[in-house]
Amino acid sequence: MKKDIGLEEVNCPICEESAKHPLHREGSYQMVRCPSCQFIYLNPRPTQESLFQFYQHYLPEEESSIGSWQKMMEPVFRRAIRLLQRCNETGRLLDVGAGFGFFLSEMKAKGWESMGVEISQKGMDYAKDVLGVKVYPGPLEKAHFPENHFDAVTGFYVIEHLPNPMAFLKECYRILKPGGLLLLRYPHTTPIKNLLRFFGIENRLYDLPAHLADFSPGTIQRCLENVGFERCQHMIGSHTLPHHLGKRAASSLFGNLSEVFYYLSFKRFLLPGVSKTVLASKREER
Ligand SMILES: [Zn+2]
Repeated sequence: MKKDIGLEEVNCPICEESAKHPLHREGSYQMVRCPSCQFIYLNPRPTQESLFQFYQHYLPEEESSIGSWQKMMEPVFRRAIRLLQRCNETGRLLDVGAGFGFFLSEMKAKGWESMGVEISQKGMDYAKDVLGVKVYPGPLEKAHFPENHFDAVTGFYVIEHLPNPMAFLKECYRILKPGGLLLLRYPHTTPIKNLLRFFGIENRLYDLPAHLADFSPGTIQRCLENVGFERCQHMIGSHTLPHHLGKRAASSLFGNLSEVFYYLSFKRFLLPGVSKTVLASKREER
Protein backbone atom coordinates (compact mmCIF):
# COMPACT_ATOMS: atom_id res chain seq x y z
CA MET A 1 0.00 0.00 0.00
CA LYS A 2 1.27 3.51 -0.79
CA LYS A 3 2.71 5.65 1.99
CA ASP A 4 0.39 8.60 1.28
CA ILE A 5 -2.64 6.51 2.07
CA GLY A 6 -5.59 8.29 3.69
CA LEU A 7 -6.20 7.34 7.32
CA GLU A 8 -9.22 7.84 9.56
CA GLU A 9 -9.85 7.59 13.30
CA VAL A 10 -12.79 5.36 14.15
CA ASN A 11 -14.84 4.24 17.14
CA CYS A 12 -15.31 0.53 17.95
CA PRO A 13 -16.93 -0.99 14.84
CA ILE A 14 -18.98 -3.33 17.05
CA CYS A 15 -20.31 -1.19 19.93
CA GLU A 16 -19.27 2.36 18.85
CA GLU A 17 -17.37 3.01 22.09
CA SER A 18 -14.89 5.86 21.53
CA ALA A 19 -12.43 4.92 24.32
CA LYS A 20 -9.67 2.50 23.29
CA HIS A 21 -6.62 0.82 24.79
CA PRO A 22 -3.48 0.60 22.60
CA LEU A 23 -2.33 -2.97 22.00
CA HIS A 24 0.20 -3.04 19.19
CA ARG A 25 1.85 -0.44 16.96
CA GLU A 26 3.29 -0.87 13.44
CA GLY A 27 4.36 2.44 11.85
CA SER A 28 1.29 4.69 11.62
CA TYR A 29 -1.04 1.79 12.40
CA GLN A 30 -2.20 0.69 15.80
CA MET A 31 -4.32 -2.22 16.97
CA VAL A 32 -6.48 -1.23 19.93
CA ARG A 33 -8.85 -3.03 22.29
CA CYS A 34 -12.32 -1.69 23.02
CA PRO A 35 -12.69 -1.44 26.83
CA SER A 36 -16.43 -1.95 26.51
CA CYS A 37 -16.80 -5.07 24.27
CA GLN A 38 -13.11 -6.21 24.10
CA PHE A 39 -13.10 -6.10 20.29
CA ILE A 40 -9.60 -5.72 18.79
CA TYR A 41 -9.47 -3.37 15.79
CA LEU A 42 -7.20 -1.13 13.73
CA ASN A 43 -7.22 2.56 14.62
CA PRO A 44 -6.39 4.75 12.76
CA ARG A 45 -7.21 2.74 9.66
CA PRO A 46 -7.23 3.34 5.88
CA THR A 47 -10.26 5.18 4.54
CA GLN A 48 -12.81 3.22 2.47
CA GLU A 49 -11.53 4.80 -0.76
CA SER A 50 -7.90 3.75 -0.06
CA LEU A 51 -9.06 0.24 0.83
CA PHE A 52 -10.90 -0.09 -2.46
CA GLN A 53 -7.72 0.92 -4.36
CA PHE A 54 -5.63 -1.43 -2.23
CA TYR A 55 -7.77 -4.46 -3.12
CA GLN A 56 -7.35 -3.85 -6.85
CA HIS A 57 -3.75 -5.06 -6.30
CA TYR A 58 -4.26 -7.50 -3.43
CA LEU A 59 -4.63 -10.77 -5.36
CA PRO A 60 -1.50 -12.25 -6.99
CA GLU A 61 -0.82 -11.53 -10.68
CA GLU A 62 1.08 -14.49 -12.17
CA GLU A 63 -0.56 -17.78 -13.12
CA SER A 64 1.79 -19.75 -10.81
CA SER A 65 0.86 -17.58 -7.80
CA ILE A 66 -2.82 -18.04 -8.60
CA GLY A 67 -2.23 -21.83 -8.57
CA SER A 68 -0.43 -21.58 -5.21
CA TRP A 69 -3.34 -19.54 -3.83
CA GLN A 70 -5.75 -22.30 -4.85
CA LYS A 71 -3.57 -25.02 -3.30
CA MET A 72 -3.25 -22.99 -0.11
CA MET A 73 -7.03 -22.82 0.40
CA GLU A 74 -7.86 -26.34 -0.79
CA PRO A 75 -8.02 -28.14 2.62
CA VAL A 76 -10.20 -25.34 4.08
CA PHE A 77 -12.54 -25.45 1.07
CA ARG A 78 -12.83 -29.23 1.21
CA ARG A 79 -13.84 -29.09 4.87
CA ALA A 80 -16.32 -26.27 4.22
CA ILE A 81 -17.96 -28.28 1.42
CA ARG A 82 -18.41 -31.23 3.80
CA LEU A 83 -19.94 -28.97 6.46
CA LEU A 84 -22.38 -27.33 4.05
CA GLN A 85 -23.37 -30.59 2.39
CA ARG A 86 -24.08 -32.17 5.75
CA CYS A 87 -27.10 -29.83 5.93
CA ASN A 88 -28.06 -29.47 2.24
CA GLU A 89 -26.96 -31.74 -0.59
CA THR A 90 -27.39 -28.81 -3.01
CA GLY A 91 -28.85 -25.28 -2.94
CA ARG A 92 -28.06 -21.68 -3.78
CA LEU A 93 -24.72 -20.34 -2.54
CA LEU A 94 -23.13 -16.91 -2.29
CA ASP A 95 -19.40 -16.63 -1.58
CA VAL A 96 -18.47 -13.14 -0.40
CA GLY A 97 -14.92 -12.07 -1.24
CA ALA A 98 -14.84 -14.84 -3.82
CA GLY A 99 -11.29 -14.01 -5.01
CA PHE A 100 -10.61 -15.98 -8.18
CA GLY A 101 -13.77 -18.08 -7.70
CA PHE A 102 -12.18 -21.44 -6.79
CA PHE A 103 -14.67 -22.24 -4.03
CA LEU A 104 -17.59 -21.30 -6.28
CA SER A 105 -16.24 -23.52 -9.02
CA GLU A 106 -16.03 -26.50 -6.63
CA MET A 107 -19.54 -25.91 -5.30
CA LYS A 108 -20.89 -25.57 -8.83
CA ALA A 109 -19.35 -28.95 -9.67
CA LYS A 110 -21.24 -30.38 -6.64
CA GLY A 111 -24.51 -29.18 -8.14
CA TRP A 112 -24.94 -25.91 -6.22
CA GLU A 113 -26.21 -22.78 -7.93
CA SER A 114 -23.15 -20.70 -7.07
CA MET A 115 -22.40 -16.99 -7.29
CA GLY A 116 -19.97 -14.61 -5.68
CA VAL A 117 -19.19 -11.03 -4.76
CA GLU A 118 -15.69 -9.61 -5.18
CA ILE A 119 -14.21 -6.11 -5.30
CA SER A 120 -11.04 -6.99 -7.23
CA GLN A 121 -11.61 -6.64 -10.98
CA LYS A 122 -8.83 -9.17 -11.60
CA GLY A 123 -10.57 -11.75 -9.37
CA MET A 124 -13.94 -11.11 -11.04
CA ASP A 125 -12.49 -11.50 -14.55
CA TYR A 126 -10.67 -14.74 -13.68
CA ALA A 127 -13.79 -16.25 -12.07
CA LYS A 128 -15.89 -15.42 -15.13
CA ASP A 129 -13.42 -16.07 -17.98
CA VAL A 130 -11.39 -18.99 -16.65
CA LEU A 131 -13.76 -20.79 -14.26
CA GLY A 132 -17.10 -19.77 -15.75
CA VAL A 133 -18.67 -18.75 -12.43
CA LYS A 134 -20.82 -15.71 -11.82
CA VAL A 135 -19.29 -12.98 -9.64
CA TYR A 136 -20.88 -9.59 -8.93
CA PRO A 137 -18.94 -6.43 -8.09
CA GLY A 138 -18.70 -5.89 -4.32
CA PRO A 139 -19.05 -4.86 -1.61
CA LEU A 140 -21.92 -7.18 -0.63
CA GLU A 141 -24.28 -4.39 0.45
CA LYS A 142 -24.14 -2.87 -3.06
CA ALA A 143 -25.13 -6.11 -4.83
CA HIS A 144 -28.75 -5.81 -3.52
CA PHE A 145 -29.64 -9.49 -3.45
CA PRO A 146 -33.28 -10.33 -2.63
CA GLU A 147 -34.32 -11.22 0.91
CA ASN A 148 -34.47 -14.93 1.94
CA HIS A 149 -32.60 -15.93 -1.21
CA PHE A 150 -29.61 -18.14 -0.34
CA ASP A 151 -29.27 -21.54 1.32
CA ALA A 152 -25.69 -20.73 2.28
CA VAL A 153 -23.40 -17.70 2.44
CA THR A 154 -19.66 -18.15 2.88
CA GLY A 155 -16.79 -15.74 3.58
CA PHE A 156 -13.23 -17.09 3.69
CA TYR A 157 -10.84 -14.63 5.33
CA VAL A 158 -13.19 -11.72 4.66
CA ILE A 159 -14.69 -10.40 7.90
CA GLU A 160 -11.32 -9.18 9.24
CA HIS A 161 -10.98 -6.95 6.14
CA LEU A 162 -14.32 -5.18 6.52
CA PRO A 163 -14.74 -1.65 7.90
CA ASN A 164 -18.27 -2.43 9.09
CA PRO A 165 -18.50 -6.12 10.06
CA MET A 166 -21.93 -5.69 11.69
CA ALA A 167 -23.48 -4.28 8.49
CA PHE A 168 -21.98 -7.25 6.61
CA LEU A 169 -23.47 -9.78 9.07
CA LYS A 170 -26.87 -8.06 8.95
CA GLU A 171 -26.84 -8.24 5.16
CA CYS A 172 -25.87 -11.94 5.25
CA TYR A 173 -28.79 -12.54 7.62
CA ARG A 174 -31.23 -10.66 5.38
CA ILE A 175 -30.34 -12.54 2.18
CA LEU A 176 -30.24 -16.02 3.77
CA LYS A 177 -33.36 -18.17 3.78
CA PRO A 178 -34.69 -19.06 7.26
CA GLY A 179 -32.51 -21.96 8.44
CA GLY A 180 -29.84 -20.96 5.87
CA LEU A 181 -26.19 -21.31 6.83
CA LEU A 182 -23.45 -18.74 7.24
CA LEU A 183 -19.90 -20.12 7.20
CA LEU A 184 -17.04 -17.77 8.07
CA ARG A 185 -13.33 -18.48 8.15
CA TYR A 186 -11.16 -15.97 10.04
CA PRO A 187 -7.68 -15.61 11.53
CA HIS A 188 -7.30 -15.43 15.32
CA THR A 189 -3.95 -13.76 15.75
CA THR A 190 -3.84 -11.94 19.11
CA PRO A 191 -2.92 -14.94 21.34
CA ILE A 192 0.04 -15.84 19.13
CA LYS A 193 1.09 -12.15 18.98
CA ASN A 194 1.04 -12.00 22.77
CA LEU A 195 3.07 -15.20 23.04
CA LEU A 196 5.71 -13.97 20.57
CA ARG A 197 5.87 -10.59 22.30
CA PHE A 198 6.52 -12.40 25.58
CA PHE A 199 9.60 -13.97 23.95
CA GLY A 200 10.58 -10.62 22.38
CA ILE A 201 10.00 -11.87 18.82
CA GLU A 202 9.05 -9.11 16.35
CA ASN A 203 6.51 -10.10 13.72
CA ARG A 204 3.89 -8.75 11.34
CA LEU A 205 1.27 -11.41 11.92
CA TYR A 206 -1.59 -8.89 12.10
CA ASP A 207 -1.10 -8.20 8.38
CA LEU A 208 -1.68 -4.45 8.71
CA PRO A 209 -3.32 -2.50 7.23
CA ALA A 210 -5.18 -5.26 5.30
CA HIS A 211 -6.71 -6.66 8.49
CA LEU A 212 -8.92 -4.11 10.19
CA ALA A 213 -9.73 -6.34 13.16
CA ASP A 214 -8.83 -9.55 14.97
CA PHE A 215 -11.83 -11.68 15.92
CA SER A 216 -11.88 -14.37 18.59
CA PRO A 217 -14.54 -17.12 18.78
CA GLY A 218 -16.12 -15.08 21.62
CA THR A 219 -16.40 -11.83 19.65
CA ILE A 220 -17.62 -13.66 16.53
CA GLN A 221 -20.32 -15.40 18.57
CA ARG A 222 -21.52 -12.13 20.15
CA CYS A 223 -21.68 -10.40 16.75
CA LEU A 224 -23.57 -13.30 15.16
CA GLU A 225 -26.08 -13.51 18.02
CA ASN A 226 -26.64 -9.73 17.98
CA VAL A 227 -27.73 -9.99 14.37
CA GLY A 228 -30.06 -12.94 15.12
CA PHE A 229 -28.00 -15.96 14.07
CA GLU A 230 -28.35 -19.09 16.17
CA ARG A 231 -26.76 -22.54 16.59
CA CYS A 232 -23.20 -21.14 16.29
CA GLN A 233 -20.73 -24.00 15.94
CA HIS A 234 -17.06 -23.11 16.34
CA MET A 235 -14.37 -25.37 14.92
CA ILE A 236 -10.85 -25.37 13.53
CA GLY A 237 -12.06 -26.29 10.04
CA SER A 238 -8.72 -27.58 8.72
CA HIS A 239 -5.67 -25.43 7.87
CA THR A 240 -4.20 -23.63 4.87
CA LEU A 241 -1.20 -24.92 2.90
CA PRO A 242 0.93 -21.86 2.04
CA HIS A 243 3.44 -22.20 -0.80
CA HIS A 244 6.41 -21.20 1.41
CA LEU A 245 7.81 -24.40 2.93
CA GLY A 246 8.37 -23.03 6.45
CA LYS A 247 4.92 -21.47 6.62
CA ARG A 248 3.36 -24.66 5.25
CA ALA A 249 5.09 -26.77 7.88
CA ALA A 250 3.95 -24.42 10.67
CA SER A 251 0.39 -24.30 9.34
CA SER A 252 0.21 -28.11 9.08
CA LEU A 253 1.73 -28.64 12.50
CA PHE A 254 -0.47 -26.17 14.40
CA GLY A 255 -3.52 -26.96 12.26
CA ASN A 256 -3.29 -30.70 12.93
CA LEU A 257 -2.43 -30.17 16.60
CA SER A 258 -5.41 -27.88 17.09
CA GLU A 259 -7.73 -30.41 15.40
CA VAL A 260 -6.44 -33.14 17.77
CA PHE A 261 -7.12 -30.93 20.83
CA TYR A 262 -10.53 -30.03 19.44
CA TYR A 263 -11.68 -33.62 18.98
CA LEU A 264 -10.04 -34.91 22.20
CA SER A 265 -11.95 -32.23 24.13
CA PHE A 266 -15.25 -33.33 22.52
CA LYS A 267 -15.28 -30.23 20.29
CA ARG A 268 -14.85 -27.79 23.19
CA PHE A 269 -11.24 -26.61 23.06
CA LEU A 270 -10.15 -24.30 20.24
CA LEU A 271 -6.40 -23.70 20.29
CA PRO A 272 -5.88 -19.92 20.52
CA GLY A 273 -3.87 -18.28 17.75
CA VAL A 274 -4.87 -20.50 14.80
CA SER A 275 -7.49 -19.65 12.16
CA LYS A 276 -11.02 -20.83 12.87
CA THR A 277 -14.27 -21.59 11.13
CA VAL A 278 -17.73 -20.77 12.45
CA LEU A 279 -21.04 -22.04 11.15
CA ALA A 280 -24.33 -20.37 12.16
CA SER A 281 -27.96 -20.54 11.03
CA LYS A 282 -30.56 -17.91 10.34
CA ARG A 283 -33.49 -18.37 12.72
CA GLU A 284 -36.24 -20.60 11.29
CA GLU A 285 -39.70 -19.05 11.02
CA ARG A 286 -41.79 -20.23 13.96
ZN1 LIG B 1 -16.65 -2.19 21.44
